[in-house]
Amino acid sequence: MTDVLIIGAGSAGSVLAERLSADERCTVTVVEWGPSATDARVADQIADGLRLPIGPASSVVHRYPTVLTDDPRRTAQLMRGAVVGGSGAVNGGYFCRALPTDFDGWGLPGWAWADVLPHFRAIEHDLDFDTPVHGQDGPITVRRVAVFDGATGAFVDAARAAGYPWVEDLNGATAGLQLPAGIGAVPLNIDGGQRVGPGGAFLQPVLGRPNLTVHTETRVQRLLLQGTRAVGVQCRGPDGASELFADRIILCAGAIETARLLLLSGIGPAAQVRAADVPVVADLPVGVATIDHPEWVLPVRWTPTHGVPPLEAILTTDKGVEIRPYTAGFGAMVGGDHDDPADHPHLGITLMRPHSRGRVRLRGTDPVIEHRYDSAPLDVLLLSEATELARELAGAAAEGQEAVWATSQHLCGTAKMGSDDDPDAMVDNRCHVFGVDGLSIVDGSILPMAPSRGPHATIAMIGHRAAEFFA
Ligand SMILES: Cc1cc2nc3c(=O)[nH]c(=O)nc-3n(C[C@H](O)[C@H](O)[C@H](O)COP(=O)(O)OP(=O)(O)OC[C@H]3O[C@@H](n4cnc5c(N)ncnc54)[C@H](O)[C@@H]3O)c2cc1C
Repeated sequence: MTDVLIIGAGSAGSVLAERLSADERCTVTVVEWGPSATDARVADQIADGLRLPIGPASSVVHRYPTVLTDDPRRTAQLMRGAVVGGSGAVNGGYFCRALPTDFDGWGLPGWAWADVLPHFRAIEHDLDFDTPVHGQDGPITVRRVAVFDGATGAFVDAARAAGYPWVEDLNGATAGLQLPAGIGAVPLNIDGGQRVGPGGAFLQPVLGRPNLTVHTETRVQRLLLQGTRAVGVQCRGPDGASELFADRIILCAGAIETARLLLLSGIGPAAQVRAADVPVVADLPVGVATIDHPEWVLPVRWTPTHGVPPLEAILTTDKGVEIRPYTAGFGAMVGGDHDDPADHPHLGITLMRPHSRGRVRLRGTDPVIEHRYDSAPLDVLLLSEATELARELAGAAAEGQEAVWATSQHLCGTAKMGSDDDPDAMVDNRCHVFGVDGLSIVDGSILPMAPSRGPHATIAMIGHRAAEFFA
């Protein structure tokens, strides 16, 4: 029996485990599906911040099919990190906070900008800016690239020539100072080419704490409930099946697997839970209105740059679009192959405040993911207009190239946080699941809205913020 059982040592779970185990009176047990970050089979794959270790040979991701659009039906593959550090151990290193207006827009007590700013500061050590909004003492190093080459250099020049201002610091917004539309350097959690993610920066250094136990290569299969109280989990690890029990269980398994575990345990829309032959414990809106950042990808014939982060600068527009000049082709970013002349850099045209909502359900025990990106005509219009802008900026480099639908891999919001009168919400503002005692959720599942920036920094912050609710 442990005080707290954390399911998943990903971006949020790693931070939460470190914070809760800092109190030596609290026993914390973490169950993680993937291997340890120092495991020789995976350590090099996840340390290199200049590549995304998600290619076909990767042993650090789980893959899930998804349907991006319904008309016509376009499919894609989603990836999720499957290692201590989670998706934060395999991602692009873009570590940009959501905006003050995002948090204030949630309207949830305890999550206003003034509430979350101390936690953004606490998780980071910003090497470029030392101001009241930046952190200097946190474990995650944040820095920006100062000199741009190849595709990034060409894009920055084009955006500036088109009149977009240089945004000095994309993490510099405050409640009174909104950032203008413009182009700026991406805050990166990559230092000297090494990824500095929540797993390595928060959890790894404290593994020796006597009150902290981490079971790696162990997958939780379902929650154990007594009536409407969560008391433990069934899991399977290197030594076979086992059960673990705790006073509080905190799901940090990421947007897909947290939803899956809830549904398999009888927590979710009643009809779906029954259809999966599981007794209903709590009729809650799991996976009914998911969020992600739809992206169109436009290849550009600019010179790729190798040995640099995948993304160094972004243009943000006043219509809530981010245009991302990726530094190399996907093949090079993923596999390190620099010699394929057809592997062009590309622009990612991404809607950061989409209206479309997706779904996550179960078929048997597998998640069925539908992004429904084309369900909101306004989103398609905004993407199409922004792609015209991207074409204008790229000029001859984009001539004859087609933009294709893609995903930012930012799926969130499968177990939304909100007030008890919000029909789409299933956890309260302190991350507790409505109607189920002893069960909480702390990961990207609970995001109530798509953040106006990539979600990683915000989800790591959520791990830090939420720790205060379990003290
Ligand atoms: C390829 C890729 C690139 C991305 N790039 C960026 C980027 O550059 N910037 C950005 O802002 N965002 C990026 N994202 C998104 C961002 O990384 C994720 O949104 C974020 O890391 C999710 O954090 P999380 O804590 O919710 O879940 P995760 O970090 O995914 O953690 C979930 C953890 O739970 C474990 N787990 C799952 N199921 C079980 C189970 N049943 N039992 C035990 N353990 C389990 C998993 O192995 C994993 O370690 C990217 C995502 C991907 C996949």
